[in-house]
Amino acid sequence: MILRPFGPTGVAVPVIGQGTWRMERDRHSAVAALRRGLDLGLTHIDTAEMYGNGRVEEIVAEAIEGRRDEVFLVSKVWPHNATRAGTRRACEASLRRLRTDRLDCYLLHWPGEHPLADTIAAFEALAQHGKVRSWGISNFDTADLEEAVRIAGPGRVACNQVLYHLEDRGIEGTLLPACERHGVAVVGYSPFGAGRFRSHPVLEEIARARGATARQVALAFLVRHPATFTIPKATRLAHVEENAAAGALTLTTDEIRRIDAAFPAGAGGRRRSR
Ligand code: NAP
Repeated sequence: MILRPFGPTGVAVPVIGQGTWRMERDRHSAVAALRRGLDLGLTHIDTAEMYGNGRVEEIVAEAIEGRRDEVFLVSKVWPHNATRAGTRRACEASLRRLRTDRLDCYLLHWPGEHPLADTIAAFEALAQHGKVRSWGISNFDTADLEEAVRIAGPGRVACNQVLYHLEDRGIEGTLLPACERHGVAVVGYSPFGAGRFRSHPVLEEIARARGATARQVALAFLVRHPATFTIPKATRLAHVEENAAAGALTLTTDEIRRIDAAFPAGAGGRRRSR
């Protein structure tokens, strides 16, 4: 599994992690999948207070019980809660559900109606009290990112978690370069298009040549930049195992060029899920 520094935190985090959206639908499989993922080095676990209205954080708590120190644990505040006091309360509720005393990174789920400066002040206060080791943003476009960096100062925004898969490479235009410029980690979500992954002859060819699968090649492509991470969600053990094995695959320049041509960066619409 390839590890790299998570933005300005410098913490070594695996390039492939585990998403948890909709995991409340099958608690038993979710816990087993998350545990298997941890065994295989998928120690970055991404959740949110919004997921299952808190139920997914409780599932994550069960999965990481006794293993907290192995995990790079990320949760998110719901934007409508993201006032100064509301962010603190939301974080404390997430910590209770997750049965832990700290988050490794705490994100604003998307830009909302409350002043960003207030959310950031709350994040910094939580960091001072040791409740969050770092904080970041999610679904911020380039202008939103610049505003966050302007308010927080350099080296404070740990990551921007954004939609990124082969059929939606919109972040590569200005957002990814801006994140790289500011040293902000880019965590790509929905790497399989939220379950709508479609293979392609180029992925199949590369997969065959490398003894890998098309999905593993796709994941390796999504983490080819030094600032990027990806967080596929999988509740089936076979899926977790396939995704974890992608963490050892590094594509050649020629393979990247062929995938780039097969999935043009300009194609696909911009869309936010959760
Ligand atoms: P995704 O990871 O693109 O796709 C998940 C789907 O792919 C599930 O149906 C899963 O099936 C399937 N899958 C996973 N690995 C597979 C494999 N190796 N082979 C075949 N199928 C496989 O979708 P996502 O859940 O939207 O995104 C991932 C995570 O990103 C979320 O769970 C969440 O943590 C985060 N996210 C964040 C935001 C945000 O606004 N910040 C938005 C969306 C997502 P099984 O479950 O049956 O294994």
